[in-house]
Amino acid sequence: MAEKEKTAKKEKEEKNAKAEKSGKTEKSERALKERVKAAKKLQKDLVWKFPHIARKSPEQKEAAFSYCEGYKEFLNEAKTEREFVTAAVKRLEKAGFVPYERTGLKTGDRVYEVNRGKALIFATAGRRPLEEGIRLNAAHIDSPRLDLKPNPLYEKNGLAYFKTHYYGGLRKYQWTAIPMAMHGVVVKKDGETVTISVGEKEGEPVFCVTDLLPHLAAQQNERKLRDGIRGEELNIVVGSLPYDCGGEEELKEPVKLLALSILNERYGMTERDFLRAEIEMVPAFQAADVGLDGSMVGAYGQDDRVCAYTALTAGIEVEGPEYTTVTILADKEEVGSLGNTGLDSDYLLHFIQDLAEDCGADWRRVLRRSLALSSDVNAAFDPTFPGVYEEHNSCYLNRGCVLTKYTGARGKSGSNDASAETMAQVIDIMEEAGVCWQAGELGAVDAGGGGTVASCLSCLNVDTVDLGVPVLSMHSPFELTAKLDIYQTYLAFCAFYR
Ligand code: MN
Ligand code: MN
Repeated sequence: MAEKEKTAKKEKEEKNAKAEKSGKTEKSERALKERVKAAKKLQKDLVWKFPHIARKSPEQKEAAFSYCEGYKEFLNEAKTEREFVTAAVKRLEKAGFVPYERTGLKTGDRVYEVNRGKALIFATAGRRPLEEGIRLNAAHIDSPRLDLKPNPLYEKNGLAYFKTHYYGGLRKYQWTAIPMAMHGVVVKKDGETVTISVGEKEGEPVFCVTDLLPHLAAQQNERKLRDGIRGEELNIVVGSLPYDCGGEEELKEPVKLLALSILNERYGMTERDFLRAEIEMVPAFQAADVGLDGSMVGAYGQDDRVCAYTALTAGIEVEGPEYTTVTILADKEEVGSLGNTGLDSDYLLHFIQDLAEDCGADWRRVLRRSLALSSDVNAAFDPTFPGVYEEHNSCYLNRGCVLTKYTGARGKSGSNDASAETMAQVIDIMEEAGVCWQAGELGAVDAGGGGTVASCLSCLNVDTVDLGVPVLSMHSPFELTAKLDIYQTYLAFCAFYR
């Protein structure tokens, strides 16, 4: 009996414990759910991750794709800084911009000024007095390329060549065995400046740099990638047939002579005129849609014509802005912004001094109260080479224009490093306008580095920050960008100007 009682008691206890336990579980489950819900809400409120535009605003795809049709056309029309200026002035004049004559500016006035055919400033007078500051936006229109040396033409073993000197930071091995076109100007003795363009129109010949076949590259393969192709090996093939003088007599360097005679026929130039010329060899191919979805643009020179074009179109778009807007499309960024068409020159300062003087404003006060975007591309995260990026602070294709607080190398050396106040100001402008943007750093710490024109703007005592488009294969002959990002950059500039 005692045994039976004991068992019953135990069973009762177990039953109670079970019920209590299950009751508790139900209660705690409800509480747990509440806590998870709260945590999720907190996460939503506190944690931030830049969204993919195609997920956040899929409706933007159509507008972005259509905007980039004009962009690609422009890239094909303007492959050099001079061509960019010419093409931009054409569009500015069509939109009512006139050369700046220093007669003062009324609200809504639109003016432009060309610096030596290679750089451009244009401005729209705002509703507020100039002394309340201006909105500056600077992009650059020069890109890495192969420049002809001053004395470029020579003949060797029956082939005629151009000697080149590369311009900007390029990886030399990428520039062989691709079609190249010849662009530039020659200033002739009679004062006439002749524009040169060979290799762009359909049916026209192109040029190229040769490279070794793999069968004979064993020795070259031992070189470091950096020296895979050396600077003095970037020689452009320009001809292979000798000049026909009709007889048996041997001419000295007849292949060179034929090449020269063709240039003479076409442009009226002689070998001596190369010293009075600026000729750039650039990739001959056209801008193209990339990917099965056509979501990207592949083209030469998107650094930084992608920001220059978006700045140009946004600058044309804005009418009667609040603050006076000044857009600078600068030359020479790829070689350190030096030279009088680079932003390290005083031409921008002089333009602002002129504006201020003509409007009766103090130019120092104007600059002090201004806000500037240094609009340049940034390196998009490349999944094939993740090691040089830091994934939490990289920009990605299709997440919008990239706001870059600082560039530089090592310990931010050579960087503008925008202040928190400036970052906040620009972020507010973009967010008020619903622009999709992201933040980015130029690669992982100590992986390398680089600079932009930001330092040239901030040294004028202007609050400055970098903004631009993420790019893959930067400085290669075929750079890659995403259409959604290009369009957001245009929208960011529109908001900045407005
Ligand atoms: Mn750039
Ligand atoms: Mn660059």
